[in-house]
Amino acid sequence: MLAERGSLAFVTLIMLEASLRTIALATKGFMPPDEGDALYDAVLAAAAAVPGLPMAEIGSYCGRSTVWLGAAAQKCGVVLYAVDHHGGSEENQQGWEWHDEEVVNSTGRIDTLPFFRDTMRRAGLMGVVHECVGDSHVIGQGWTQPLALVFIDGGHGRDIARGDYQAWSPHIALHGMLVVHDVFEHAVDGGQAPYEEIYLAALASGKFDELSRHGSLRVLRRIAT
Ligand code: SAH
Ligand code: MG
Repeated sequence: MLAERGSLAFVTLIMLEASLRTIALATKGFMPPDEGDALYDAVLAAAAAVPGLPMAEIGSYCGRSTVWLGAAAQKCGVVLYAVDHHGGSEENQQGWEWHDEEVVNSTGRIDTLPFFRDTMRRAGLMGVVHECVGDSHVIGQGWTQPLALVFIDGGHGRDIARGDYQAWSPHIALHGMLVVHDVFEHAVDGGQAPYEEIYLAALASGKFDELSRHGSLRVLRRIAT
């Protein structure tokens, strides 16, 4: 009987995760599925290392990566703050490589907030994911709560990436995680700002070491205050 109950719970869990994964994959955005799964694992590891503390995502766009983060946060019983001004990064603007006409609103500006809200509603994550709409540097500088994990996937300009690192990394609790997306060691693979201004800066500070890597995702752990 116990075994039956156990396997029933197991099946329910798998189904729930499969349906959330389907929602994530159907959402506009830039998170490859295997890196999303690694993000999910990083949340579980951070919650185990620093139980009970909230987590933050910098750069949510339409909520694709937020589904993995939010579902994992929900499983761990913690809150996820999703920070984005929803006006798009430089590379999302008209004429740039990653522009999508569908996220331009009636005033001609990018507005991903309605898409983000729709994704969270469909994923059933409205109670766990708290949207923080505004400039990530301003929000980070005024932040007061320690965090178990910060995922940085915001603007990829040098100043923006550096500002995100400076504004958010101090809030990561000892043994908590700094997760960085779009880290490319070689310029032929992509822009260097997340690599140099976040990843290398964190390692050079002596406060973080590397825990794991998956594609362009890097999971660092806070080892000193
Ligand atoms: N994590 C998302 C992709 C994020 S794209 C996914 O997996 O699909 C980068 C996001 O960062 C954009 O939505 C953009 O609006 C946001 N962004 C860029 N610079 C920002 C800033 N200074 N403050 C707040 N958000 C910013
Ligand atoms: Mg990214």
